[in-house]
Amino acid sequence: MRLTRLRLNGFKSFADPSELSIAPGLTGVVGPNGCGKSNLLEALRWVMGETRPTQMRGQGMEDVIFAGTARRGARPWAEVALHFERDGAETELVRRITRDGGSAYRLAGREARARDIQVMFADAASGAQSPALVRQGQIAELIGQKPQARRRVIEEAAGVAGLQARRGEAAAKLGAAEANLQKLGEVTGQLA
Ligand code: ATP
Repeated sequence: MRLTRLRLNGFKSFADPSELSIAPGLTGVVGPNGCGKSNLLEALRWVMGETRPTQMRGQGMEDVIFAGTARRGARPWAEVALHFERDGAETELVRRITRDGGSAYRLAGREARARDIQVMFADAASGAQSPALVRQGQIAELIGQKPQARRRVIEEAAGVAGLQARRGEAAAKLGAAEANLQKLGEVTGQLA
């Protein structure tokens, strides 16, 4: 999977629609303090399914919506669109959040679930937790991390994080099925 374009509209400091193309290879974002470098990276993580407001440096997820300045009012919604190439085809993923209305995803024009988006990017090793997106200070953080936390980063890089997520879901379903089976056994035992 290759990310090709990112469009922000009303996301954090990007009050007006802004679009940037992502060239092949390593991309670095440079600029003066407070110009929005970290906001850009957060937009990428957010559209890929990040659900923790703390990872967006906010209290609630609606904090990603442009909050207004002395000269212009707050926006009622924010949207981030990501274009990516997969198997030779270009696809657009859009995540939109409204104040009080929560957020929704559209993948290639169709409504999608957060879970599916997260697993899709985890499979491609480019998700919201991906080591391909390096925030300021993250290298020092990684060095100081506990082995289990570092292992998660390696798993994501190896592309097995999606499998782990599905394994967790499958184990939960299996547990529920076993509980149902036990109940069934009890009921049939009572009838016998
Ligand atoms: P530094 O190099 O200092 O880390 P940076 O280029 O990474 O800075 P960001 O942290 O991405 O900059 O952007 C910070 C700016 O974004 C601040 O001016 C902040 O007020 C603004 N900002 C963050 N959230 C919102 C929001 N919801 N609405 C409006 N502006 C916001």
